[in-house]
Amino acid sequence: MILDAHVHLGEDVVFDEVQTEQQLEEFYAKYNVDGGIIQPYIGRPYLEDTRQIHDRIAAFVKSSHKRWWGMASINPHFRPEDYDSEAKRCVKDLGFVGLKITPIAHACHPSSKDAFHVFEIARSLSVPLMIHTGAGIPFSDPISVVKGLEYFKDVVVVLAHAGSEMHNQQATYLAEKFENVFLEPSWVGVIGVGVMIKKVGSSKVMFSSDNIYQIPVELAKYHSILSDKNDLENVLYKNVASVYKLNI
Ligand SMILES: [Zn+2]
Repeated sequence: MILDAHVHLGEDVVFDEVQTEQQLEEFYAKYNVDGGIIQPYIGRPYLEDTRQIHDRIAAFVKSSHKRWWGMASINPHFRPEDYDSEAKRCVKDLGFVGLKITPIAHACHPSSKDAFHVFEIARSLSVPLMIHTGAGIPFSDPISVVKGLEYFKDVVVVLAHAGSEMHNQQATYLAEKFENVFLEPSWVGVIGVGVMIKKVGSSKVMFSSDNIYQIPVELAKYHSILSDKNDLENVLYKNVASVYKLNI
């Protein structure tokens, strides 16, 4: 089995990207990936648009024959009561399995007051918090997450892109230091991913594509550096399943 921890649907107004349901069906079939966790591309910062893309993800999860789960991405600067009700709706009503902060797109420092509110909601809903790291320094420098990690030791945090190619040593350091930190190293070069797995072990790293054209590239990285069957299984689906409590 292969599950992708970082999949997007919709239209992104920050990065000017689009991914449709048809593309997801086509590419995940083509590369024999069984499914994964789908989050919105960054839409316009309105509650109505946020609700719409979450509903669209929920509808796709239901209709597709692959195994998908939803992840909520809500602007942390929405009024707290709006943030809370949408997060709760996604997890309790739509069955979503996580929350996401994208510091560069949400203009949200991951250790700011509004980000801390997101940590609190993740804690109260018992879901992991994925935080984008890498592009968008200094907010997206993995070290910007450290205050949140010190305060919220019981919230599971997944560092998306694991700091990317430039800042993966910081992400690796956090995963070594904090038990509740996991790494999703999409866009990190193969040497960086190899060092990462040596340092934190295969049980803390999860395969993710972030973009349909990246699927074969990301898979090739792990087949190039890992030969042990257990390590490969951990990275390709077991870790994401256990961190997000996926019923597989
Ligand atoms: Zn992404």
